[in-house]
Amino acid sequence: MRILIVGAGSAGMTCAWRLSEDPDNEVVLVEAGVDPGPEVPAVLRREILLPPEYYWEYSDADTGHFLPRGKVLGGSSAVNAAAAVRGHSWCYDSWGSPEWTFEKCLPAFRALEADQQFGTADYHGADGPVPVTRFEPGPFDRAFNDAYERRGFSRISDHNAPGALGFGPFPTNRIGDDRISTLLAFLPQLRERPNVELRPEAEIVQVIVRDRAARGVVVRTKHGAETTIEADLILLCAGTFGTPEILFNSGIGPGEQVRAAGIPLLVEAPALGTNLSDHVLVRMDVDVTDPSAPALPGGRGTLLTFELDGEGHPQAQIFAYRTQFFDPTAEPLTASVTSSLVTPASRGRLELGSGRAQVHLRHLSDPLDRSRMADIVTRAADIIDDLAASGTVRLPDAPWWRADDLQEACRREAVSYHHAVGTCRMGTDTQSVVDDHLRVRGVDRLMVADASVMPSIPRGQTNFAAMMIGYRAADFIR
Ligand SMILES: Cc1cc2nc3c(=O)[nH]c(=O)nc-3n(C[C@H](O)[C@H](O)[C@H](O)COP(=O)(O)OP(=O)(O)OC[C@H]3O[C@@H](n4cnc5c(N)ncnc54)[C@H](O)[C@@H]3O)c2cc1C
Repeated sequence: MRILIVGAGSAGMTCAWRLSEDPDNEVVLVEAGVDPGPEVPAVLRREILLPPEYYWEYSDADTGHFLPRGKVLGGSSAVNAAAAVRGHSWCYDSWGSPEWTFEKCLPAFRALEADQQFGTADYHGADGPVPVTRFEPGPFDRAFNDAYERRGFSRISDHNAPGALGFGPFPTNRIGDDRISTLLAFLPQLRERPNVELRPEAEIVQVIVRDRAARGVVVRTKHGAETTIEADLILLCAGTFGTPEILFNSGIGPGEQVRAAGIPLLVEAPALGTNLSDHVLVRMDVDVTDPSAPALPGGRGTLLTFELDGEGHPQAQIFAYRTQFFDPTAEPLTASVTSSLVTPASRGRLELGSGRAQVHLRHLSDPLDRSRMADIVTRAADIIDDLAASGTVRLPDAPWWRADDLQEACRREAVSYHHAVGTCRMGTDTQSVVDDHLRVRGVDRLMVADASVMPSIPRGQTNFAAMMIGYRAADFIR
């Protein structure tokens, strides 16, 4: 079978790797971004602030904040912070499908990873293509750990252990400084496989549908020329912003909007572009007083997770990292103590039209999220005060988190954790964009497999969850 995969990111590359293990499958992997070549440059292996050519140009239409999305082989896995927290069993069990319980997802998580510390545990893998490790805390993180312990939080060694809550090292898919993205983990093998055709710098504009079945795609090359590629099955893995754009351009989406854009309506899919969900965070910047003990870069220090009051496991993360990691203008000793609500009730949406999607993340738009975020920040402020009293950090003049209206201050400071999901929600109900075998409703031979299908956002970082979806999509096809 000839299978065309659109987008070589976390999910797409994983799916191509798994599918092409079977020599009977012919896999065409089409990616809008560049192929950096077999010798992956250091910037793509290590950095999180990359040259603009490696990103799409999305921003939040309401705040103007840039929203990085990888446009390169490896997709966002090649530009991310490589934190490898996959979330709890209840994240997946709440997706509402017997096909996507944590029990059903766990074999894929295990097959993907080579956990360096806990590989033999029955909820981990030891032999997968993506290494996961944990680094020793530096002196700055140790001071945080002591403050967490004084507040009764538990010390844990593995954030991916069942039910883990407390403080411990970030699991990370790195070897030394190298981020093991899908570009590094899978592409070398894909290049060797005769049944894989790689098509970088080729942007898919729309899916060609005839007689209610996908037959191929329209591709635009970097020189603007348009051509078509045919296949027996089309799998869209273009991410939370990219996949809905392609479906919409193909005439699949909310009827009124599709018609208003001058596109003939093929399938009414009212949920397309809705249900956008993202982790939201706020940064509390402080100065480290000991120049020999700066904060570590992101994803290498300590992560604290805890549950908030309320039903359904509402959860928070607090962690601190060297601010320069994300902001090159910051002083070397500035550290960002970061608070995140990882169970947001707020939902955003994509405004889809004939051009690029307008993204409305609508962080903290739900009052419940504002009060929860203020609660997390109050706890983080208490920890910062503790560290200031012991002389570990120095506070700025008039810290924003001492505002009279803390909820409003949080809203002003809120930014994306860059984990957006949910715009092509899967489900067993007829309103969902894809069914729980990832088939687009109303069109045969067309599937979606990427972060866009997640009905709700897991309480961990989303890269491994997206890879898991790509892996399982291949198994559905096989
Ligand atoms: C800055 C940043 C930091 C992050 N940090 C972490 C972290 O530390 N840990 C973690 O787990 N997660 C992190 N994430 C999130 C995680 O990387 C994403 O959730 C995950 O990569 C999404 O996978 P995906 O397959 O859905 O999309 P992507 O990996 O984005 O893949 C989509 C691919 O499709 C291509 N594409 C899009 N449109 C088209 C088109 N029309 N034609 C052809 N190709 C197209 C894109 O170029 C891209 O290669 C981070 C993300 C960012 C941006």
